[in-house]
Amino acid sequence: MRLLVKRAKLMLFQCGAQISRRPFSGMATGSQFHRLATATATKTVATGAQQHDLDTDSHLRETTIRQNQAATSPLTDSFGRHHTYLRISLTERCNLRCDYCMPAEGVPLQPKSQLLTTEEVLHLARIFVEQGVRKIRLTGGEPTVRRDIVEIVAQLKALPELEHVGITTNGLVLTRLLLPLQRAGLDSLNISLDTLRKDRFERITRRKGWERVIAGIDLAIQLGYRPKVNCVLMRDFNEDEICDFVEFTRERPVDVRFIEYMPFSGNKWQTERLISYSETVKIIRERFPDFQALPNGPNDTSKAYAVPGFAGQMGFITSMTEHFCGTCNRLRLTADGNIKVCLFGNKEYSLRDALRSDQCTEEQLIELIGSAVQRKKRQHAGYATVDIRQQHLLHPHQKPLLHMRNYSNLTHIDAQGKAKMVDVAAKAQTTRVATAEAFVQVGERLTALIAANELAKGDVLSIAQLAGIMGAKQTSQLIPLCHNIALSSVRVQATLLEAEKCVRLEASVRCTGQTGVEMEALTAVAVAALTVYDMCKAVSHDICITNVRLLSKSGGKRDFQRQ
Ligand code: SAM
Repeated sequence: MRLLVKRAKLMLFQCGAQISRRPFSGMATGSQFHRLATATATKTVATGAQQHDLDTDSHLRETTIRQNQAATSPLTDSFGRHHTYLRISLTERCNLRCDYCMPAEGVPLQPKSQLLTTEEVLHLARIFVEQGVRKIRLTGGEPTVRRDIVEIVAQLKALPELEHVGITTNGLVLTRLLLPLQRAGLDSLNISLDTLRKDRFERITRRKGWERVIAGIDLAIQLGYRPKVNCVLMRDFNEDEICDFVEFTRERPVDVRFIEYMPFSGNKWQTERLISYSETVKIIRERFPDFQALPNGPNDTSKAYAVPGFAGQMGFITSMTEHFCGTCNRLRLTADGNIKVCLFGNKEYSLRDALRSDQCTEEQLIELIGSAVQRKKRQHAGYATVDIRQQHLLHPHQKPLLHMRNYSNLTHIDAQGKAKMVDVAAKAQTTRVATAEAFVQVGERLTALIAANELAKGDVLSIAQLAGIMGAKQTSQLIPLCHNIALSSVRVQATLLEAEKCVRLEASVRCTGQTGVEMEALTAVAVAALTVYDMCKAVSHDICITNVRLLSKSGGKRDFQRQ
């Protein structure tokens, strides 16, 4: 055993040496040392046992080690709650002004210098993950107003031990941002939507954008997410939409969660506006008698329910009437770098100041986090003031509006949120022409080789030209919702611009039909450009395809001419 401890010490020394090259680093703590020594001992003792026993033993040991780690982790509080979930607020700013959340004039904003930079967010996130956080949710303010949101998601996803990165958003800009976020690795998204009625949305948020939020939800579904839709229930605002939201889950694979209205300073909170969980379930059961509870995970804040046969499900976040403090595994990091151990607590500790101080080592920063976690109370006090007993007397039994349009106006999505092609049968047959261009920057050497027609693979320009024509004819096979159009002509020109060291491709496509051919022209130049790349890549990979763009189109509802 002494030998093993010695070996562990050596490993620790090597480890420490590596860590100390990072800023704010420190040597491993005593508990880290203990963990390492135990893990090393465990590994050696197990050698030589039979495979089955070894697997079972090592599984048990891993579980024990994990439990020991959790018990000694700075993220475990004095009530034994191990915090594996971190919510990071990326900004105080928001592009909506929901009246229960923010005053009409907005909140006073701190100077940018006080807010965490991208590097600081990622630095603190790494420390939390090294101490045991496995899930991070980005929130705000509105997290999507921060320009580095995609980069932050991508960098968080690069942390090997982090299992899940999610975002809570008002959904206003998802149609623009969700694809890049998905490419960056975003695992899940919660979209806030308190009403299925456009006019009410504009009233409560004091802004336009309801259609965009609905389109964002539809897009999330199309991209394979099962979004959570967060709805704060408020008496005299949306209580008559409770069953409409249940209806919303009939065809859509979404998880609508009703949040109990919470008291925050400045939101003019009134007890009587709270609609409790039990009251809501009662209202739903009057219309959906088989509305039933589903099993919940150990740290779920939401109580899951569903109507059998519906594509989506419902949930209740009962922060006010049935708090879930006993299983709370959440910590919060504010946009200005404070750790907050409870949403309802006033106590915050600045990690930003520690991070920016030359004197603070990473070990001391971890100690600071640990001492904040240790001060977490057994439960929050916010709900104690609410007398919910009167709530049941108040609700009106209004009939849901079943025929309301809840779907987006996206032309490529049907009433079930599924992709569809646009029906062009009613459109007039006209002559349609579209022209597009693209450039391939090839550099000096390749320019000379193309000019002399000396590339080993053959004549780049004429093969690219042919590829462009073939590409245009394949457009409907490549672009999911494009029509299969009978083209009357496709002309592709490939020109070497020697001075600019690039190949210019131009495609002009024509048809007589009910829909345009801009996608055909763009596909033609894109495929021709890729062909140039393919012909040249044996000589150099320093080739760049640029400015794939439409130059003009005519014959449809809206003509276009690039200036
Ligand atoms: N801007 C993002 C959004 O709209 O989702 C993230 C921040 S927002 C403050 C996070 C969530 O808190 C939203 O779902 C919002 O509805 C909810 N919320 C805000 N004020 C609330 C209140 N007084 N009671 C209950 N939930 C509230």
